[in-house]
Amino acid sequence: MSKALFAIFGNPVSHSKSPLMHNLSFQGLGFDGCYTRYLLEDGSKLKETFFTLGLKGINITVPHKEYAYNACDILDPFAKKVGAVNTIVEKEGKLYGYNTDAPGFLKAISEFENVKTVLFLGAGGTAKSTSVILKEAGYDVTIINRSENRLTYFKDEGFKTYTFDTFISDISLSQTYDLIINMTSAGLEDDSLPAPSEILEQVIPAAKACVDVIYGKETPFLKLARTHNKLTKDGSDMLLYQGIIACEYFTDHAYTFGNIKMYMKKAFIL
Ligand code: NDP
Repeated sequence: MSKALFAIFGNPVSHSKSPLMHNLSFQGLGFDGCYTRYLLEDGSKLKETFFTLGLKGINITVPHKEYAYNACDILDPFAKKVGAVNTIVEKEGKLYGYNTDAPGFLKAISEFENVKTVLFLGAGGTAKSTSVILKEAGYDVTIINRSENRLTYFKDEGFKTYTFDTFISDISLSQTYDLIINMTSAGLEDDSLPAPSEILEQVIPAAKACVDVIYGKETPFLKLARTHNKLTKDGSDMLLYQGIIACEYFTDHAYTFGNIKMYMKKAFIL
């Protein structure tokens, strides 16, 4: 049998850690596979490109997760519910789609104990899938976002939602949140906070911990949380865990989560 080929599709994609993560796992596990990156400019060509390159599986990153969803022949029920696919596996000519970002995130925050209420700052694609899985796991999730229109999905799913303005006018309700999570891209390539200081200074002091989905740097949000002596966590574990779960699909569950983790985590210390 020839070597199984995998890739990450995205735009941009040159920064991605996924090739290193998966190749370290394949090598360590003795799995006959190779993983690369592919700059996909036109998301509508995703399926065609997959087959032209002769791939066995892919991960999909920004901005193609909805194209990936539409490219699949068979969708995992959770991916279907949240409308976003970040992992595709080919079996007998058919594309099977999964979302591993959300279970990866759920596992990453499971280290925080006695957490019930969670405040999401941001309402983008990542917030969609992760809010749904947290809700299914029993967390009480509230979403606040800069602009109103992205909140519609969350309202329809039964979440409490606020814009910055409506949240500020409700602050007197003095609701507290155990976990505050930056689900925005604020701080990724700039020094901005994900919400006005007025909101952050209200919610951070009462929180047990603050989490960012951005990884590889300490964002202004996490810096602010540290000035309040809060526990903090960046997005590295989310990235690692979504990768491990994707690798379980790529290898048809031939290896355990712990086995894959042993090799994949080396990508974070190299
Ligand atoms: P989207 O583009 O879908 O959504 C972006 C969100 O951020 C929107 O809610 C937007 O608000 C908000 N936003 C952007 N800039 C600001 C700002 N300056 N102030 C306030 N709000 C802002 O992004 P994704 O959901 O795909 O990604 C979000 C983050 O998650 C990214 O940083 C990405 O790198 C990270 N991520 C991390 C992963 C990991 O494994 N660790 C996996 C996947 C994503 P508005 O609606 O008002 O525009």
